[in-house]
Amino acid sequence: MRAEIITVGTELLLGQTLDRHSQYLSQECSPLGIGVYYHTSVGDNRQRLLEVIQLASSRSELIFLCGGLGPTMDDLTKETLAEYLDVRLIQDPETVTHLEKLFVGRTIATNNFKQTYVFPDGVVFTNQNGTAPGLSVKSKGVTYICLPGPPNELVPMFETSIRPFLLQLLPEKQVIDSHTLSFFGIGESLLEERLNDIIENQTNPTIAPYAKEAGVTLRITAKAKDKTTAHAMVQPTLSAIMERVGEYCFSEKEESLEEVVISFLKQQQRTLSVVESCTGGLLAHMVTSVPGSSEVFKGGIVSYTNEVKNQIAQVPLDVLQQHGAVSSWTAESLATQTLKQFQTDLSLSITGVAGPDPSEGKPVGLVYIGLAEKGQPSRVYQFQFKGSRRRIQLLAAKYALFILQQ
Ligand code: ATP
Ligand code: MG
Repeated sequence: MRAEIITVGTELLLGQTLDRHSQYLSQECSPLGIGVYYHTSVGDNRQRLLEVIQLASSRSELIFLCGGLGPTMDDLTKETLAEYLDVRLIQDPETVTHLEKLFVGRTIATNNFKQTYVFPDGVVFTNQNGTAPGLSVKSKGVTYICLPGPPNELVPMFETSIRPFLLQLLPEKQVIDSHTLSFFGIGESLLEERLNDIIENQTNPTIAPYAKEAGVTLRITAKAKDKTTAHAMVQPTLSAIMERVGEYCFSEKEESLEEVVISFLKQQQRTLSVVESCTGGLLAHMVTSVPGSSEVFKGGIVSYTNEVKNQIAQVPLDVLQQHGAVSSWTAESLATQTLKQFQTDLSLSITGVAGPDPSEGKPVGLVYIGLAEKGQPSRVYQFQFKGSRRRIQLLAAKYALFILQQ
């Protein structure tokens, strides 16, 4: 099946927004055996969008149109498609009900009702994360799929509704089995390099890497006539990948390091405290973002100045004076003292130079992470991170979690 992707939005052409939908949809279409032949971005302009739709319709059987389903005047994707197809949009009672539920207790702006209009004889995909439904319509052998622009709406809609819809469009009925492996401590390019031959020689299953803010996930997808066959097809590839880069894999699901750490602590019935300097509470924030973290996380200290490191976090003055705040001694003392103060089974400490300027004559990106564990000798890890202040803080907090789950 020949497909193409049209992304709509002037912000894409101005360079204000990077088009991520074309990449995402192409990566998702490939394992389904749908070939994507063109990516086009066009502004919020009726005439130019019409031209793009016309051209796409002459050469593709499946056309995705992303964005421009919003309530405002410049959102004109489905109206322009309707004009091209020469059909009149009709109001969909179910979408009206969905909108009313979302706006319960509030007045619905007249503009929003624009989003309740759909194609006659088309398919409507409810938007669980917003007001604009996804829409599909078929005309003269071409299937058009309109998707909302916001990524937090488009991606879940694809996962829950569009992929199953595409599967039943395919000439041969097939099911897919998809596995996600989550990695940390290895960059996307190095991971790909290590797996190059496996990735290149594989058509079924396919392997698609996705870079995350910190970390990489690999999606391994096989398609077959039934679920059992597809599942069996994925297994040898999974084993081959784990053999090469298993040491960096922290989960065989799509989940964050903090989620893994919390469930691991829950399982072991162990408690955690943290003490942070250069991350300023980021680690505690990550941990507490996981629902149910209160079962295992007792609390923490943000010991930013030496005064607080000494008076609140109880690092002896001579340690600070002799070795400095950014040192393995301070990291160790922070972790062990906090373990005692909070009476937890584990305690993590972070101290380092987030930049932009060096501190205590120590380079930007130098970070020490301490891990104190009840009844065990404490450990300290030294890192030299690169990047912006924000990136150094993010890596420090993530590495602390990575250390804990190992
Ligand atoms: P809204 O109801 O928010 O207006 P919409 O369906 O009309 O939704 P757009 O207005 O085109 O969609 O885009 C909404 C937001 O989604 C944009 O500001 C942008 O941040 C994001 N977005 C749109 N298209 C893309 C894209 N191709 N890649 C990444 N982000 C995108
Ligand atoms: Mg919009």
